[in-house]
Amino acid sequence: MSGEMAMLHMDGIPPDKLSQVQTHLQPFHLSLEKLADISCRLNKSLILGLGKHSHHRAAVKMLPTFVRATPDGTEKGDFLALDLGGTNFRVLHVRVCEDEQQVLKMDSQICSIPQEMMLGPGEQLFDHIASCLSDFIDAQNLKGQTLPLGFTFSFPCEQLEIDKSILIRWTKGFNCSGVEGEDVVKLLKDAVHRRGDYDIGSVAMVNDTVGTMMSCGYRDQSCEIGMIIGTGTNACYMEEMKNVKRVAGEDGRMCINTEWGGFGDDHSLRDILTEFDLMVDNMSINPGVHIFEKMISGMYLGEIVRLVLVRLTEDKVLFQGQISSALKTPGSFQTKFISEIEEEDAGLENAQNILTQLELKWDPGDVRVVRLVCDTVSSRSARLCGAALATIANRMRTSRGLDHLKTTVGVDGTVYRKHPNFSDELQATVRLLAPRCSLSFLVSEDGSGKGAAMVTAVAQRLALQSRL
Ligand code: BGC
Ligand code: MG
Repeated sequence: MSGEMAMLHMDGIPPDKLSQVQTHLQPFHLSLEKLADISCRLNKSLILGLGKHSHHRAAVKMLPTFVRATPDGTEKGDFLALDLGGTNFRVLHVRVCEDEQQVLKMDSQICSIPQEMMLGPGEQLFDHIASCLSDFIDAQNLKGQTLPLGFTFSFPCEQLEIDKSILIRWTKGFNCSGVEGEDVVKLLKDAVHRRGDYDIGSVAMVNDTVGTMMSCGYRDQSCEIGMIIGTGTNACYMEEMKNVKRVAGEDGRMCINTEWGGFGDDHSLRDILTEFDLMVDNMSINPGVHIFEKMISGMYLGEIVRLVLVRLTEDKVLFQGQISSALKTPGSFQTKFISEIEEEDAGLENAQNILTQLELKWDPGDVRVVRLVCDTVSSRSARLCGAALATIANRMRTSRGLDHLKTTVGVDGTVYRKHPNFSDELQATVRLLAPRCSLSFLVSEDGSGKGAAMVTAVAQRLALQSRL
């Protein structure tokens, strides 16, 4: 792709610096051929994950979600929703109205989870969740009501039923003891019962990708893919039951939570990892886990940029070779800086302010190099996501025996929402790698809150229908 480099901001960088900068950035550039090759590898990983006998050694887990239908518009009722695993922990009261086909957020509350709690005993975390829920339903006057609850728990879980869900492993900076291998619904119920001041009704466990797909599904019933590019990254889609070998039944479809963040955990992405990716992985609390996610999502992008900047400063390309203690500090270059620096109009000015804030002595050439680094790192992320989404779309098209697939992707996540051209680059990549699929993209309105209620509502509708 010859046009690819031209999209990056290289103007205003002194030629002698540019070649040194490019030496470090070269490994981040993935050609279209490379992306197509990565898509093939992911497809192989998806097949391994779905297989009954290969699943246990698959890097991409392809987890059945027990969500068998998208909304049909007849769902209704009041629900509680919990949302853990994104930017904030939230508790919500959601009303699904059949008549107006609306999902209303009646109220919600953000509860902070202190860093120590993210790494402490699981019981403490669940006690905290139960206590936030208690405060919320008190404030909402809902204590006598025992409402059904949708729990958006955005971590890889082996789901055995809609209300039985075993945490496989923590991701994204969480690492509470005593939760991996346990049923999260039981841990929640136990914590509620330890308090004894209220009770909860039936629980539906929901991954955020699934909530995102379902929340868009109320507006657009052809929404059959959910994708998150935020703190972490992942996607789900409606798979043919006949391909879901781990769940009995051949008819209809089931939503599969791919957990594509784990792509590469079997070393299948070794050739595209840069030295900076390896450093990010080594310094993380879960080395070797979620390699694909660490190249893509908000939790890591800023850190990749920081490490590149440190290296360029050590090579005396930036900041007259002087690294500030701020820049030396892990996490100091936030992912949101990338979006701010890449903004079309205010970008360079934003960059100057950010570099000043990081106590760096910059000149105009430095500012442009920093923008090029951000551009390179975020473009790689967008294109990798695009390749992964194309893989899923191609798979859906072929397994449905279609010449052409037309479907909608529900999307959420701060990186997708906030970055100035992430979505354009992602979509351009999908068009190139999945030419026989037309995807529409719908940014979800609170998939983790309203979507969780929607999943709970659909589960109730199906349970009721099967009883009739
Ligand atoms: C988790 C997924 C989640 C994604 C986006 C990943 O780290 O494993 O379950 O969907 O983050 O929040
Ligand atoms: Mg089956």
